[in-house]
Amino acid sequence: MSGGPDPAAPAAPSDLPAPPGDDADVPGYLAALGLPGIVDVHVHFLPENVLRKVWGYLDQAREHYGMAWPVHYRLPEADRVATLTHLGVTTFAPLVYPHRPGMARWLTDWITEFAAATPRAVPTATVFPDPDVADYLGAAVEAGARIAKVHVQVGGFDPRDPLLHPAWGLLAEAGVPAVVHCGNGPRRGAHTGLDVFAEVLAAHPRLRAVIAHAGLPDFDDALDLLARHPHCHLDTTMVGTPFTEAFAPLPPDWVTRLVDIADRIVFGSDFPNIPYAYAAQVRAVAGWAAADDRLGAPFLRSVLHDAPARLLGLSSGDPG
Ligand SMILES: [Zn+2]
Repeated sequence: MSGGPDPAAPAAPSDLPAPPGDDADVPGYLAALGLPGIVDVHVHFLPENVLRKVWGYLDQAREHYGMAWPVHYRLPEADRVATLTHLGVTTFAPLVYPHRPGMARWLTDWITEFAAATPRAVPTATVFPDPDVADYLGAAVEAGARIAKVHVQVGGFDPRDPLLHPAWGLLAEAGVPAVVHCGNGPRRGAHTGLDVFAEVLAAHPRLRAVIAHAGLPDFDDALDLLARHPHCHLDTTMVGTPFTEAFAPLPPDWVTRLVDIADRIVFGSDFPNIPYAYAAQVRAVAGWAAADDRLGAPFLRSVLHDAPARLLGLSSGDPG
């Protein structure tokens, strides 16, 4: 990992448990940290036919992205839910996203039902610049959606589209966070770029945006955005794993720059569509914590559990 220790930083903490070698080690690792489990804000569950298309696309990743992307958890839906349980994930946000108009309402309805039927899943929503976006998003928020997914890259829409203005306003008003994939990775989209999304934040400064993948590959820009916007968060999804370090390495001062924004870093994984084991994401975060004793175990407890629980509005009475 290139986001290694800053030479000026204090020594690494020594009281950390050994990071998990594989998925079977994750629950013991969480227990050693004194955590009830992981709260994962970036997981995907999709209708079967849509998921098949996503997996089919990733099977052709060499063509699309120039690298192989073997989906690690290509399992039936019930087995994917069980895998999260075995990993010690106590709460997760199942995210859906449309790639064309007229699909977001249907996906939001589908995921609302999925979450209602699935313990540990919180209800979520998605948006597209559809004329009726405020209508279906408003209904989802009314029904208890805890977080929304906005996929600027796959959707190919402009986040500044006037049709989305009421949707951003609605989320900001309701305090419902939005996981926004607006970075230029793994491939630039028609309207990706943190500079583009910064204009949405300027118009909706109270929006609790979660910059998916910490803005990969533009990590510096994402960190700058957080410095300017106190309600903005970063999710860890795929960040710092050997897979992404190969094409989007973290900046050398990454760990040092996390110190001041530690409470706005939330754990995300992209389960199940990742080309490696879940434990690799936990190891990446553990590596940052170990690299600077201003982070250490409190940082791990915050990223893996406390900060995402706060973001999703889980009360202490909730399981997560
Ligand atoms: Zn994702």
